[in-house]
Amino acid sequence: MPESLLIRGGRLVDPIASIDALRDIRVSGIVLEIGEHLEAMSGEQVVDANGAIVSPGFIDMHVHLREPGEPQKERIETGTQAALRGGFSAIACMPNTSPALDDPASIESLLAAVAQRAHCRVYPIAAITRRREGEELCDLDALSEAGAVAFSDDGGWTRDARVMAEAAKAAAHLEAPLISHCEPEEAAAARDLLLALVSEKRWHLAHLSTRRALEMLLAARAQGARVSAEATPHHLLCTQEGAHANGTSTRVNPPLRSEDDARALREGVRDGAIDVLASDHAPHTAEEKKEGAPGFSGLEVAVGAYAAALPDLPLSRFIALLSANPARILNLEGGTLQPGRPADVTIFRDEPWRVDASSFVSLGTCTPFDGATLPRRVVATIVGGEVRYRA
Ligand SMILES: [Zn+2]
Repeated sequence: MPESLLIRGGRLVDPIASIDALRDIRVSGIVLEIGEHLEAMSGEQVVDANGAIVSPGFIDMHVHLREPGEPQKERIETGTQAALRGGFSAIACMPNTSPALDDPASIESLLAAVAQRAHCRVYPIAAITRRREGEELCDLDALSEAGAVAFSDDGGWTRDARVMAEAAKAAAHLEAPLISHCEPEEAAAARDLLLALVSEKRWHLAHLSTRRALEMLLAARAQGARVSAEATPHHLLCTQEGAHANGTSTRVNPPLRSEDDARALREGVRDGAIDVLASDHAPHTAEEKKEGAPGFSGLEVAVGAYAAALPDLPLSRFIALLSANPARILNLEGGTLQPGRPADVTIFRDEPWRVDASSFVSLGTCTPFDGATLPRRVVATIVGGEVRYRA
């Protein structure tokens, strides 16, 4: 039994347990007890959470960890350290690696590397088709067996509708959802929403970015499609109109949209149309960004940026979007802090801080939020009862 840890004096907000109150919480590998004014036991480590919010560990279900294949952009060590600094006790990583995560051996070797080098929990998302080329379906059963929590061809949206329909059929009996990385977004979303509707397969739309895609999502849901959706910090807050004039540094897929689209997304988060906040952490080297590589380093700014985009969002909903909901969609065991559950905890404060991308631990430092002042700051991230990050 690992030593226990007492998190004292914080405001515990756990939407699944319907708790929002000053509570102390004692953990080891799992949550041991929750109560008012718990006394520290002799020799017990105490984390003072006075004035802070204590929540189930955040989960980022859309991260590009770049391993295997592109260690100059990110490595398991740096990506998972960036996750901890951003308040994420767990991340799901995308399969657009080199080679792609398209067979059980690639999942197993990633998980072996994760066991040795990761600082937070990492759940692999496997490819839908071999080499993500959109032609030959992967063995989804075997991938699931090896540990894949979802399937996606990521940036290579599966163009052939027959292949995607086959994927929905092959994955019908699996818990793991299909994730559409829709490009071009509206046409892609329309097709995949139809496939979700007719196949009844559980589906997830990555980085939704337009009002029309959101409307189509709601229409499909109204007809019974089981589809969840996520929004990124940059699509919630940054727009084409507001983008810096220096071109390539604001390149991202899908691109930044109009103010009307961003407003629709923020409304979608507020009214429940969007289930998950996910960063789409997509680090590149400075050289690659100069050459126009699309994507931002997101993990270390995401929580502050979400809070900036959604200042009036109730705290319990903010936390559900970052913990309970991604845990439910990917069938992970986190997402709540009830006794017996994994002791993954995020502690944060509503306190402004200034982003300095040059201090990121991620190898990617391109973010539209560099220099911005954000209203919410992570102060500690605990994984399995261990304090892995403390500001
Ligand atoms: Zn992505």
